[in-house]
Amino acid sequence: MTITRFAPSPTGYLHIGGLRTALYSYLWARKKDGKFLLRIEDTDQKRNSDEALEAIKKVFDWCSLNYDGDVYYQSKRFDIYKKYVEQLLSEGKAYKCYMSKEELTALREEQMANKQRTKYNGKYRDFKGTPPEGIEPVIRIKAPENTIIEFEDGIKGKVSFNTDDVLDDFIIARSDGTPTYNFVVAIDDALMGLTDVIRGDDHLSNTPKQIVVYQALGFDIPKFYHVPMILNPQGKKLSKRDGATDAMEYKTLGYFPEALLNFLVRLGWSYGDQEVFSMDELLELFDPKDINKSASAYNADKLLWLNSHYMKTLPLDRIVSDLKDLGLDISSHPNKELLIDSHRERAKTVVELKEQINSIINTPTQYAPKAVKKFLKGEWKTIMTSFLETLKQNTPNSSQEFEDITVKFMEENDLKLGKLAQPIRIAVTGTAVSPSVYDTMAIIGKDELVSRVEKLLGEF
Ligand code: GLU
Repeated sequence: MTITRFAPSPTGYLHIGGLRTALYSYLWARKKDGKFLLRIEDTDQKRNSDEALEAIKKVFDWCSLNYDGDVYYQSKRFDIYKKYVEQLLSEGKAYKCYMSKEELTALREEQMANKQRTKYNGKYRDFKGTPPEGIEPVIRIKAPENTIIEFEDGIKGKVSFNTDDVLDDFIIARSDGTPTYNFVVAIDDALMGLTDVIRGDDHLSNTPKQIVVYQALGFDIPKFYHVPMILNPQGKKLSKRDGATDAMEYKTLGYFPEALLNFLVRLGWSYGDQEVFSMDELLELFDPKDINKSASAYNADKLLWLNSHYMKTLPLDRIVSDLKDLGLDISSHPNKELLIDSHRERAKTVVELKEQINSIINTPTQYAPKAVKKFLKGEWKTIMTSFLETLKQNTPNSSQEFEDITVKFMEENDLKLGKLAQPIRIAVTGTAVSPSVYDTMAIIGKDELVSRVEKLLGEF
């Protein structure tokens, strides 16, 4: 069975790069009817892991991603790690190292002066003598010397390292007994039964160390997929200046989770030149072996484009509920369907949609000076006053009925639409921009239209 995981370190928010690896792991597990597990890597406890979990849960809920079973917390697994330290010690595969900080620093400095890679020199590897007093030892693993560690990365292909070049007898437990990062990651991945580890390629240099741990403990090595980073358009590390890095912020910015996931999945994975993918399609088509080998560039316009696609296609109820989450409840508006359908084409984000809808459903409190100057001139007052009379004498309801009476009025008075449409838009929204003027009239209804036109006539 395919088992994948997402293993964030607590940071208080979920980075979009993290969400992307989580999504890849999720898709792969779900596609294979496997399991997708969640582990919080909170061994250094400087950050609060509850807060990190809450942040992740929020994003997962919003994006409808779910993990299987209970959450694993590394901070609750110290007994397990301790047992494996003891096992390695008793099997002679790890040893106590009494090197003092000063000695280690001196060694480093010497290596640096000789332009060598800094690494532990194995002083206590086969130490038989009496240990120095007053030093709490660290535990180091006996790493294979001058040995090739090779694995077939699902994305990068064959990766190989010589142990002499990339590692040393690294510490697996500090002098206070706490285990170190690569040691616990390897143990957890093995005990959680992972078959496929999909993670950022910033972890590639950790992999040989983790393989050393797997081998020392006799665990099966999972398949690794190291996913290239998301960079900014200039090819540098993505920063907040390029776009929000906190996944949850995209909700506040008015993005749909479908758009964000679609955007993220394509940042680094492709299927021909298809851009839009539903979750069902992804579950059918996604395979981590098709993840790109090179880094991908964050493209804010693409995300916006995808969001407008979903704005046009998502069901009405979804849009109503996303609007509600952003503080605008139109669920009981009598013309909510028209309200949304007439704006879907223009609003790229839910935030824009909210602004546009607000400008129609609320009576304007001010009128855009430029629009006023441009359109409220000449005979506008005479025309509008006369149109007001027509309105009062009729009972239009639908967009079509508003269109019929308006067209008739224009024909009778030999007018062009602009002469009437722009002042009506200004009366309704306070600006000269709105969707179809007939939709606009139908949305607010005849009575409200009459009152807004009267208000405009009274103000100018
Ligand atoms: N905790 C690591 C991180 O947040 C991920 C470790 C891994 O995937 O192996 O970058």
